Amino acid sequence: MTLTRLSAETLAARLAAKEVSSVEVTQAHLDRIAAVDGDIHAFLHISTSALATAADVDARRLDGERLSPLAGVPIAIKDVLCTIDMPSTAGSRILEGWVPPYDATVVRKLRAAHLVPLGKTNMDEFAMGSSTEHSAYGPTHNPWDLERIPGGSGGGSAAAVAAFESPLALGSDTGGPIRQPAAVTGSVGVKPTYGGVSRYGAIALASSLDQVGPVTRSVVDAAMLHDVIGGHDPRDSTSLRDPWPSFTDAARAGRDSRSLAGVRVGVVKELNGDGFQAGVRSRFAESLEIMAAAGAEIVEVSAPNFEYAIAAYYLILPAEASSNLAKFDSVRFGMRVNPVGGGTVEEVMAATREAGFGDEVKRRIILGTYALSAGYYDAYYGSAQKVRTLIQRDFDAAFEKVDVLVSPAAPTTAFKLGEKLNDPLAMYLNDITTIPANLAGVPGMGLPMGLAPEDGLPTGLQVMAPARQDARLYSFGGAFEALLEDKWGHTLLSQAPSLEPTEMNAARGGAV
Ligand code: GLN
Repeated sequence: MTLTRLSAETLAARLAAKEVSSVEVTQAHLDRIAAVDGDIHAFLHISTSALATAADVDARRLDGERLSPLAGVPIAIKDVLCTIDMPSTAGSRILEGWVPPYDATVVRKLRAAHLVPLGKTNMDEFAMGSSTEHSAYGPTHNPWDLERIPGGSGGGSAAAVAAFESPLALGSDTGGPIRQPAAVTGSVGVKPTYGGVSRYGAIALASSLDQVGPVTRSVVDAAMLHDVIGGHDPRDSTSLRDPWPSFTDAARAGRDSRSLAGVRVGVVKELNGDGFQAGVRSRFAESLEIMAAAGAEIVEVSAPNFEYAIAAYYLILPAEASSNLAKFDSVRFGMRVNPVGGGTVEEVMAATREAGFGDEVKRRIILGTYALSAGYYDAYYGSAQKVRTLIQRDFDAAFEKVDVLVSPAAPTTAFKLGEKLNDPLAMYLNDITTIPANLAGVPGMGLPMGLAPEDGLPTGLQVMAPARQDARLYSFGGAFEALLEDKWGHTLLSQAPSLEPTEMNAARGGAV
């Protein structure tokens, strides 16, 4: 099998056994990127030092240095994360070409574990969106169908993994954009417990909701990456001090057992019903049967306040975003636009923000500023925070009865590029399933549950666990993934179009 088709786990084992070098593995992925990324557009920037990094890992291995399990495995990094050696734009024109003076903590950890950064992946501007169409640098295309969205905001990371351009990627999830892109591309994404992974150096969207997490093609791969990036960071005041168990061990134990005996699985009534695509619902029903056959006890639970999650989120998020984005003032970072004939400091700031921010960013800054303004603060922001508490209580009540909660990870399969671009509300509603976990800070995983019969596109299962119980997601996800793959006899992504450049041209109706 070609190197780009292998899981990170298998690549790591082959590298450790010196059957293959990191330079070969890295070159194979750079070649794949060169062959297909013109059509996918998962990457905004390709590292010029990937091969040198790989050669360094190979040399260390030959010297007998003890290396971490993922040493030498390539990884793609969402452009929201600061990298000292590559531009970090967060998908925005205002940061075009900006190279940060430091690495995000998660990036520092990747380097310390000797992973090989391949480049930075495309995203909706400042992570605002569910389709990657709000990137200032053009959309990413879904490898399953180039006319469709790869999800967002982290569509670039999900597409890179699903198109076999990288075995691993980092994403960030404020309202779903690790789990929803995973669902629509057939990959695996995990939003850790809030505070489980450092946010230092992740360009903030909404600080009380943002979490960095793994995007991969298997549950064990996600666990291996989570083990590298997780843990306490004194530079992030919201970082938890908890000791974490090995997520890799949890995922492998789940996979090996293929058992869900005694696990109480709560089906959230409010996250599966009208408005969910028929094929998503049927795959979800089938998934519940598989869980029950593996010994799980399926219980319906109600979370009555989830209905208000989107409304609360779209007050809290813009409020925090309007404050976080105030720092892009033409003085400290990136772009500066001088009005013709000069101008005051305020006029330079206004001209810069007018030229540097896209429509969706401006819309949210206006919404957030309004929600925070004197006289409206209590009515909007204050009420939204109260709703947030009610949603947290819904989770607490549910987790008294069950061990994990499940729902579809997204209400539909990938929609067409352009379909929701001019309808912000329709775009916002797409995150109905994923937003509650962000509001409550609990961990969530998105993983494949099969193709929708009506359009042949991937559907995703979401699994949520109580805060700090990320390991439970990995053991559950590891078992569920193995059960499904046993049933199918293959992985979901092995069914994706192989995306050789000629096929891609044909798929688009172009010359072969
Ligand atoms: N789609 C959601 C939004 O537009 C979530 C974004 C995110 O998690 N980065 O806000």
